[in-house]
Amino acid sequence: MAYREKRYEENAIDESLAPLIKMPLPGPKARALVELDGRYMSPSYTRVYPLVAKRGRGAVIEDVDGNLFMDFNAGIACCSTGHCHPRVVEAICKQASTLIHYAGTDFYYEPQAHLAKKLSEIAPGEELMKVFFGNTGTEAIEGSLKLARYHTGRKKFIAFHRAFHGRTMGSLALTCSKTTQRKHFFPMMPGVIHVPYGYCYRCAYKLTYPECNLYCVSYIEEIIFQGITDPEEVAAIVIEPIQGEGGYVVPPDDYHRALKSMAEKYGILFIADEVQSGMGRTGKMFAMEHYGVVADIITLAKGIGSGMVIGPILARESIMTWKPGSHGNTFGGNPVACMAVLETIALLEEGLIEQAAVEGAYFLSQLKRLQERHELIGEVRGKGLMIGIELVRDRETREMAKKEANEVVQICFEKGLLTLPCGPNVIRFSPPLVISRKQIDRGLAILDEALAQVEGKRGK
Ligand code: PMP
Repeated sequence: MAYREKRYEENAIDESLAPLIKMPLPGPKARALVELDGRYMSPSYTRVYPLVAKRGRGAVIEDVDGNLFMDFNAGIACCSTGHCHPRVVEAICKQASTLIHYAGTDFYYEPQAHLAKKLSEIAPGEELMKVFFGNTGTEAIEGSLKLARYHTGRKKFIAFHRAFHGRTMGSLALTCSKTTQRKHFFPMMPGVIHVPYGYCYRCAYKLTYPECNLYCVSYIEEIIFQGITDPEEVAAIVIEPIQGEGGYVVPPDDYHRALKSMAEKYGILFIADEVQSGMGRTGKMFAMEHYGVVADIITLAKGIGSGMVIGPILARESIMTWKPGSHGNTFGGNPVACMAVLETIALLEEGLIEQAAVEGAYFLSQLKRLQERHELIGEVRGKGLMIGIELVRDRETREMAKKEANEVVQICFEKGLLTLPCGPNVIRFSPPLVISRKQIDRGLAILDEALAQVEGKRGK
């Protein structure tokens, strides 16, 4: 006990000092680690800048050279309760000294069943939801595809342009946010039909909302179900409530309702991939709640465990009827991860969802003010603390400012702000939900400078 507390103290960071960059980046220790990594790690990883994280507290990351960064990434929307929240650390340590693993597919233990009950209680909808535990986002998606096939007896799926659902052969068949993710891996799971997402800023049909009458939804009935597949062959529509990797794309308010009622008409299941948008990030527990839609199946991961590895599938009781042996794994529902999730949910319910809604609205309004001064910002969009800015070279033509988006991200890093691009020309902000207004302001001041620097170079 004393040892644990001492370690926690030793690793404390004074968040009020951040950002604090003491040297040109990467510093000497970071450079050495990047070299080591390059020698032994798979070259498939996609590092955007040489951050070598050493420790984290709240919304601050310290690197191996002692530089402090304001974190607008949260380890890609995972560390929702902030880095090393004391209650999450306590829950993890307590469970780790009690029982670390016992294979939840084959045996029983308390944390798994208790967490399933809690997830079922917080899930939207009238019908009881049952839970299957995978370990990652992609594993949750794989399971949801199998469940949809098992339950409906149908084989095909509808997915969306720019979607990201993971990188294993089933989820990769749905993923289409970047061709590099798919190139060399054909054939993936067959039977996936891709259609345009409700992305009004770049409407595939060059229509304008709301006069378009959501043609992107009726297109599925008019074209896909007339000429490409009979709807009776479609097991499920798989969709992100707000697209993540594809560019933090927020569809119009009535979009998901229209899709869901079309799905119901044909007995097609509606799978909401809440891996990135779920667990309070958008200012509601599940992002689909903004749209008033109750999904048949929900996939989760990322922010649910404050950084611990877990990927649950929630499905209506009448759907999750597969027989023993039809799906399982070794590590899913790991007791330590389950306890981290239970503590995370408690913290979300005690105020972090509300904080994400309030601070997210402030964050968004400040970005809109930046947009008035920076021509590069074509669109500001988001819900809660899931926010993106789409950069364009020209606001009329909306030519994508891909190089500029990367330059802004690099400069932010050099000045002590961690952000990440998504889609070809979008910068995303997914900070820990504990982030304070002061910290948001500090980060935005850096973003302001970085945008000005890139625009200055272009003579704007
Ligand atoms: N679905 C969505 C919406 C995601 O954003 C991601 C990861 N970016 C995944 C699935 C895959 O998750 P994982 O990387 O844990 O496999």
